Amino acid sequence: MSLTKEQALKQYFGYDSFRPQQAEIIDTVLSGEDCLVLMPTGGGKSICYQIPALLCDGLTIVISPLIALMKDQVEALRSNGVSAAYLNSSLSGSEQDSVLWQAKLGELKLLYIAPERLFSGNTFEALREWNVKLFAIDESHCISSWGHDFRPEYRQLTVLKQRFPDVPVVALTATADRVTRRDILKQIGSEKAKTFVSSFDRPNLSLTVLPGRKRLQQIQAFLLKHPNQPGIIYCLSRKATETVAAGLQNAGFKAECYHAGLTGDQRSRVQEQFLRDDIQIIVATIAFGMGIDKSNVRWVIHYNLPSNVESFYQEIGRAGRDGAPAETVLFYSYQDIITRQDMILNSGQSEDQKELMQAKLNRMKQYAEADICRRRILLSYFNESILEDCGNCDVCRNPRTRFDGTTIAQKALSAIARTKESIAMGMLIDIMRGSRNRNVLHHGYDKLPTFGVGHDLRGEEWAEYLGQLLNLGVMDIAYDEGHVFKLNPLSWQVLKGEHKPELVKFIPLAERKAKEEELVPKEKPKQEIIKDALFERLRLLRKQMADALAVPPYVIFSDATLSEMAQKKPISEAQMKAVAGVGAEKYRRYGDVFIKEIVNFAKEHTKPGTRVVKGMTYLHTLELYKDGYTLDDMAQQRGLSASTIAAHLIKLREEGHGVKLRDMIPDRVYLSIMDGVRAINYQPGDPVTPLFEYLEERYDYAQIRLAIAIWQEEGEG
Ligand code: ADP
Ligand code: ZN
Repeated sequence: MSLTKEQALKQYFGYDSFRPQQAEIIDTVLSGEDCLVLMPTGGGKSICYQIPALLCDGLTIVISPLIALMKDQVEALRSNGVSAAYLNSSLSGSEQDSVLWQAKLGELKLLYIAPERLFSGNTFEALREWNVKLFAIDESHCISSWGHDFRPEYRQLTVLKQRFPDVPVVALTATADRVTRRDILKQIGSEKAKTFVSSFDRPNLSLTVLPGRKRLQQIQAFLLKHPNQPGIIYCLSRKATETVAAGLQNAGFKAECYHAGLTGDQRSRVQEQFLRDDIQIIVATIAFGMGIDKSNVRWVIHYNLPSNVESFYQEIGRAGRDGAPAETVLFYSYQDIITRQDMILNSGQSEDQKELMQAKLNRMKQYAEADICRRRILLSYFNESILEDCGNCDVCRNPRTRFDGTTIAQKALSAIARTKESIAMGMLIDIMRGSRNRNVLHHGYDKLPTFGVGHDLRGEEWAEYLGQLLNLGVMDIAYDEGHVFKLNPLSWQVLKGEHKPELVKFIPLAERKAKEEELVPKEKPKQEIIKDALFERLRLLRKQMADALAVPPYVIFSDATLSEMAQKKPISEAQMKAVAGVGAEKYRRYGDVFIKEIVNFAKEHTKPGTRVVKGMTYLHTLELYKDGYTLDDMAQQRGLSASTIAAHLIKLREEGHGVKLRDMIPDRVYLSIMDGVRAINYQPGDPVTPLFEYLEERYDYAQIRLAIAIWQEEGEG
């Protein structure tokens, strides 16, 4: 019964190797030391206490504030063959009693419990009788008032170490900041605990910033390219969530909004439907996402600019927790900055606070306006650096070109000077583009020498360049005077030609898309299409089973696992178990059903005599075999040679498909070939031709191959 941690990983979770640091953390916990684990969302924290729980003989108590998640977490463990339970107020009295008994009788490996429940009644006293071997404190930043989500109930956990000095504690969190980190250790009474800090990079998340124009239209285009993929759209206001959700519903998408103005019931219903893949899209204010653990969120879109990088990173982090590719999109225009700045100005905070908020907003702006790899900027915020540009952000996919922007800047600056520094962005662009609208004519701006000097650039190009010039400090903007432009000393240097600002070439959206698509082959190879269609079939199967079992689909298999299945098309137990995420128990529960679906799919997509993807061709032979065809009939039916069919059968037999090779050739033929084997002292693996010749070509290669396979299998000489 003593498994290694690697064996446990494979058997219970279906994975071949640990992610960085998981193995060291597990070893530390197993050696009885306390530790603090910092990993980003989706990094793989759970395994760090679940495997120690499986490897030691006793109970692991998992303390978590997220009651809504416990049921799914426990269900996921059970479907991996781990005996686990949870205790919270959602259970009836008798259900709770039953769990308490299971704990007492030593029938559980893991027990999930919220701190308020742990310290209610006499549960905490009962722990002594439960053979507790490990405490795992999830979301452990909740214990610190420095963290962003302090929960007073968590403070009670300070007694754990006092009462159970010999039971190791592993505290886990996705919040990295140093002060919180130190405070967590102090609160749990383990200041010397080993701390593991993982990289916060999430390479499977692609990063894209799109110009904030016609946002809803762009979202619809995005959704058409991502059919059925669950995702979240974050908006700044309730109003916006409602408008966007309604717009998407009208366009035929399954979208719902989620914000603090809904009743608790409404909110939990929407959340539940999203978890179960019944709603594809959630349009939410930031209130959404704290308590959800849905691993197959495939994209996150920010309809508006977030106020800081931490929030942004946390929100995009909800995509792709299963490790499969996921996309993130931020819409951005200069207007977003103005809105945010007004919010700070009117926030009623102290000047110091406002300054801090402004500094944080600036970091966010740097990300949005980046002309170097966006991941570099994001990670620099967490004091991390990467060796190479990521290749998975829009800047990497579309490197920027720079040019001397002096002329453009001079045109804009002289228009600002001639209008006495009294105009904002919209009017400035109108003047330069030579629009004769009422406002322009009313002020007589059409008489200015600068009127129309910028007609060679489109409005959106001007907006982009003016934004860049502002960032370069070439002019200022007066937030308290209706956002009009003001000249500064640098403006005058540019006007006199003493300073040459460098601009980044604007790429119109349409071109940008076309360019990105060039990187993807125009027509997908045939195999890809089959793969997508098969993925879709497996996804539907997963959904049906999930509904029948009343669990979220990702509890059955993650998207990453399904996608690997669709790619590798496993049709035997060994092949199925080689797919990451298919452990022994998952195979026992779902293996057959998914193999059947793959086989059915293959049959439907194979025409007689056509060559199909490798693996599928075996399946086709298997089907014919099961239907009772002879070797020759199979060969004829499939338009292949008998020896190819023989090779298929041998391979199918090896993979455990229960093919009886002995039935495929008459006994007489087998025995006579065996005589030949003995006569020339043929050894397994030798070329077959000498045997063929010795037997005077009476038997064909197919028969000889089969006979040898039977001989080897039966292990006779
Ligand atoms: P966190 O709690 O840190 O947000 P989880 O523990 O939920 O992350 O893990 C996120 C996903 O990564 C899960 O689907 C989990 O099964 C998967 N995962 C964890 N460790 C591994 C591993 N060693 N190999 C492959 N997948 C893993
Ligand atoms: Zn990049």
